[in-house]
Amino acid sequence: MTSKRCADSRRSKRSVAKGIAKAGGKSPVRSKQPSRPIAAGRGRAVEAALAQARKSHERLREAIDILPQGIVFLDSEGRYILWNKRYAEIYKASADLFKPGARMQDTIRVGVARGDYPEAIGREDEWIAERMRRLFHPGHSHEQVLADGRCIQIEERTTSDGGVIGLRVDITELKQREASFRLMFESNPVPMIVCALQTERILAVNDAAVEHYGYSPAEFAELSIRRLQAFDTELPWGGEASREERAARTWKHVKADGSLIDLAIYARQLTYNGEPAVLLALMDITERKRAEMRLAFMAHHDGLTGLPNRNLLRKRLDELLAQTRRTGEKIAVLFIGVDHFKAVNDTLGHAVGDKLLRGIARRLRSTLREEDPLARLNSDEFAVIQTGIKRPEDITLLAKRLLNAIAEPYLLEGHSVVASASIGIAVAPLDGDDSEKLLMNADMALSRAKKDSRGSFSFFEVGMDARAQARRKIETELRAALRHDVLRPYYQPLIGLETGRITGSEALVRWPHPERGMISPAEFIPVAEDTGLINVIGAQVLRQACLDAARWPGGVRVAVNLSPLQFRVGNLMATVMDALKQSGLPPRRLELEITETLLLEKSSQVIATLHALRALGVRISMDDFGTGYSSLSYLRSFPFDKIKIDQSFVRGLCDNRDSQAIVRAIISLGIGLGVTITAEGVETEAELSWLRAEGCHEAQGFLFSPARPNEEIRGLLDLQGSAGPPEPAVA
Ligand code: C2E
Ligand code: MG
Ligand code: MG
Repeated sequence: MTSKRCADSRRSKRSVAKGIAKAGGKSPVRSKQPSRPIAAGRGRAVEAALAQARKSHERLREAIDILPQGIVFLDSEGRYILWNKRYAEIYKASADLFKPGARMQDTIRVGVARGDYPEAIGREDEWIAERMRRLFHPGHSHEQVLADGRCIQIEERTTSDGGVIGLRVDITELKQREASFRLMFESNPVPMIVCALQTERILAVNDAAVEHYGYSPAEFAELSIRRLQAFDTELPWGGEASREERAARTWKHVKADGSLIDLAIYARQLTYNGEPAVLLALMDITERKRAEMRLAFMAHHDGLTGLPNRNLLRKRLDELLAQTRRTGEKIAVLFIGVDHFKAVNDTLGHAVGDKLLRGIARRLRSTLREEDPLARLNSDEFAVIQTGIKRPEDITLLAKRLLNAIAEPYLLEGHSVVASASIGIAVAPLDGDDSEKLLMNADMALSRAKKDSRGSFSFFEVGMDARAQARRKIETELRAALRHDVLRPYYQPLIGLETGRITGSEALVRWPHPERGMISPAEFIPVAEDTGLINVIGAQVLRQACLDAARWPGGVRVAVNLSPLQFRVGNLMATVMDALKQSGLPPRRLELEITETLLLEKSSQVIATLHALRALGVRISMDDFGTGYSSLSYLRSFPFDKIKIDQSFVRGLCDNRDSQAIVRAIISLGIGLGVTITAEGVETEAELSWLRAEGCHEAQGFLFSPARPNEEIRGLLDLQGSAGPPEPAVA
């Protein structure tokens, strides 16, 4: 309570008591006072009555002060009698004017003059007159806006003595909520409808709903919600759950413009103009539905070819297997791998690669019956499930048809591209009776087909499984061996046939296995290549070989084998330069052996690396010549320093005229090209003298020495003496 009001109320006590006595007719002072003889002293009685009235007045004040609404009592002439704290708070700007006995009209007039009532500005007299009319002829409640923007709801009642009791409620927040609801409702792009909960009549619609249904707001007002499509059967609200916002069922729905959409309806109960109602929001979820369907399709299909993916294929395979378990029918899984697909991507670009895959997918599809499931499993692998197999030949016939279909040339962006594929086949129930096993075994058969000869097919065999397991074991153990640094290069000497001296030694990696003894690189290098471990092994061997050779006497060379993978991953140039730098080995004493497979893809990057290595002064040898495609164009694509004739031509050379013809041809080719020719795998004196007679420059083989540890090789070289670096057989 403000101190001013306290003072005012003290001053007004007499008039208040008077007012109450007047208003109530029966004064509480009188009713509660026992009657006393006048002679006992009128003064004391009046005193007591006044005290009592004061007490009652205080109680009344306390009572009205705790009310949350503002309350004011006026007499019949509109004069202030009493008001509570909340009333003074609400009209804080005019509170200084409230005085008992002051006329409300006057306080309002002062307030209007001070600008406390913005609605009155410009029409002050009219506004005051209206206000007074309402005060003395109260009807409906009305609202009043104050200068600070608050909105007050005014309700006034006449009392029986012609006075007025006025109630004031600050409804500013309510008004703001209403305004924001209106804003949210009217300008919302989502069609919204408010309908009465009981009568189901439509109470309000927003512009979006008008557009959605094509009815005017007036037409809506005539409608019950059940007349609208999507509400005709079950309403999306009702019962206990109606207070919760929830998505109703979704509907297929025809809009006013004729378009068919998917609709979801959200409902929320609210009070609308004092009436229980439901706000319905109609969400067009057509796009979302479409996206969901697209996602569902993508989860089971390959984006590039549109074919089912591995998941869907497995599902289908499981279904078919369940069927054939009853009928005893056979099912074949054909795993199709496109050969050298990476080369297409690398040389012609990914766009052409993608087109090729799409082309292959189309060819496969058109070769198959409609009911034969076809899927793309990963980048260059497809799979077909063959059912209705009557004879084993049915499978091979299909495999051949598929291979032939793929092998027809493709015209892609002006390039004629020839592709081939290999196929691995697993047949249920023999090779597995669940989808996982069948796919795994077909995959294994595909690896075999690719190894045997590309463009062929191969059936799964029982041993393949064991072999695959053995490979996995090797991989694990190889990783451990690398961690413990147990791999070492051994060295096999190369002998210059003119001088009979050791011209160099080839580093051949050795893996001493705790249980299996020395494991051949022929066994673990392919595993290392499959797993990428070859890069680590290759770098280790290279570093060690350079370190060892740097200490060999007589400038003897060291030859190190490189895997094609080392050209693709990692930085081979840096590895070679590091090894040379750390060991101090002159580059001309390092020979790097590569095989034809490296040149198969005719990659310009490979040729560039070879040139760069040669520019360092390092020599480059073609290893195992004659075993691959032996294309003479490889010899032209790069100026090799040495060709090593594969041991398969050297072995039994003396009794085999074909081998003799081939070796002779290679030797004369080498001489013609000015390249050193080395024969590998020389085991007998007879082979050696034949080779020497034919003019072969160099030989390597068990006849001279197997690969030995570095210390032994050093011993051999020390024996040979340091007679200076061996002359190359061919300058
Ligand atoms: P390669 O480079 O052709 O090595 C020659 C292979 O023939 C060696 O087998 C060697 O021991 C063997 N050999 C030598 N003389 C004779 C002979 O008179 N008769 C017979 N029957 N064999 C002979 P190894 O050491 O088992 O190596 C096999 C292959 O493993 C090598 O063939 C090479 O391709 C690869 N390899 C070895 N070490 C490495 C390496 O450090 N890195 C890479 N990338 N590959 C390696
Ligand atoms: Mg070699
Ligand atoms: Mg070789």
